[in-house]
Amino acid sequence: MSATASSVGAMTDTTSFVAELSSRVRGRVLTADADGYDVERTGFQRWEAHRPAVVVAATSTDDVREAVGFAVARRMPWTVQATGHGHTTPIEGMLITTRRMNGVRVDPVRRVAWVEAGATWREVIDAAAPHGLAPLSGSFPDLGAVAYTVTGGVGLLARRHGFTSDHVHRFDVVTPDGRLRHVSEHSEPELFWALRGGGGRVGVVTGMEIELVCVTRLFGGSLLFDVAQVSDVLEVWGSWTGEVDDDLTSAATVLTYPDVAGVPEPLRGRSVAHLRVAYCGSADEGRAVTRPLREIGPVLADTLGELPYPESGSIFDEPEEPHPYRGDNLVVRELPPEALPGLTAAAGPDAPVFTVVGVRHLGGALARSPRVPSAVGHRSGSYLVSVLSPVSETDERVARRHHDATLAPFIEVALGRRLGFAFRPLSDEELAGAFDPGDDARLRRIARELDPHGLLRIGHGSR
Ligand SMILES: Cc1cc2nc3c(=O)[nH]c(=O)nc-3n(C[C@H](O)[C@H](O)[C@H](O)COP(=O)(O)OP(=O)(O)OC[C@H]3O[C@@H](n4cnc5c(N)ncnc54)[C@H](O)[C@@H]3O)c2cc1C
Repeated sequence: MSATASSVGAMTDTTSFVAELSSRVRGRVLTADADGYDVERTGFQRWEAHRPAVVVAATSTDDVREAVGFAVARRMPWTVQATGHGHTTPIEGMLITTRRMNGVRVDPVRRVAWVEAGATWREVIDAAAPHGLAPLSGSFPDLGAVAYTVTGGVGLLARRHGFTSDHVHRFDVVTPDGRLRHVSEHSEPELFWALRGGGGRVGVVTGMEIELVCVTRLFGGSLLFDVAQVSDVLEVWGSWTGEVDDDLTSAATVLTYPDVAGVPEPLRGRSVAHLRVAYCGSADEGRAVTRPLREIGPVLADTLGELPYPESGSIFDEPEEPHPYRGDNLVVRELPPEALPGLTAAAGPDAPVFTVVGVRHLGGALARSPRVPSAVGHRSGSYLVSVLSPVSETDERVARRHHDATLAPFIEVALGRRLGFAFRPLSDEELAGAFDPGDDARLRRIARELDPHGLLRIGHGSR
């Protein structure tokens, strides 16, 4: 067959494929030549966006079920994307997007919310707040609540309440065999175990019921230090975390602000450490417990104070503009003091690529086993050390080398990775290292039974 004849054949195939799929789903079915294809395939993470042969912009569980059945019948690799913050690896088969499935229903009496696949934490927070309730959301309200929860979820109140996935009652999930399953501790317990922390390897969650907590206000914010003035800020913060109770969750972020217009004048070119605090006690107690942090050295900016939970995104104040980035992390048992200056330097002006170093304090309720076991690993970790860099064509490899070198001094005390903070493809061995021994094999076994041809591709940590 000539090239022209075969491409005409392929086009006819695609045209009939799209027509057939479109007749079965309510959402749009888009191929590369369609208006809106680029917007639909692209999420927050702009590095190597998906290049799918077809995108299904799902509007309902039925759409998801039809799309999965269609992909599987044609042995087409497929994946799912909500807001695309955790995207690591492009797919060329079918992409199912869930951003239109963003319903949230709050039951204030039972203190639970039903959250659809594509709803963001912002949408859950806004639905819960009028009832005096809040979800166990993370630093950035624009993240997809489901995609976050299937990795475990380390929230702003994590040391008080534990992993977000420990507070899920039920999932509705379309498994790769095309079935819609209602998954709870009683029905499909193996899937319930896998979906809480396993990272979505067993299907598309179309909705989940989560517990809400009675939180309307927080004491929180950030303190900003110049690391040239207070070079031991990480060490002092690290010792202070050893003394605080579980109501206090905190983190340190170190970076060097670029010397460019748009960055406030006093911060341009400056290497700084932000200490981020979320405290679920009174404002007076919050002020008292954070006093030692204020005394570390000259404070360049202080936003600590009482704030309504819906404003909790201001604590980390993360960039809202989509961009390309790569990042990595390690869960560690301790912070060896001799390794901390290296972390500060890794985010300093001499770093080979702009890098944000983060250290989150774990422990507290995160370290306790949930009533119903889950796939979340490394509960005994005391800190999460992370690195993140915006990347371009030329510096991706530079960033990777820099991240490896920055994390190397922590390998001795590392338990493994957290899936949600791995913003790069992981090898099979690295992926297994995101779980407790034996759990990756168990996850693979569960996934293989539902997906014998391995067509479902996951974002977190996949190659
Ligand atoms: C700025 C920033 C801040 C963050 N802060 C936190 C934090 O405080 N705490 C924390 O724990 N994590 C945090 N994360 C990690 C974040 O939770 C994950 O990256 C999460 O996947 C992002 O959600 P998303 O909707 O953007 O996922 P997407 O990128 O849309 O999806 C990522 C992957 O999730 C899986 N997935 C998506 N939808 C479904 C579904 N319906 N069913 C099954 N699997 C699905 C798929 O494998 C998909 O590839 C942060 C990430 C960023 C970039």
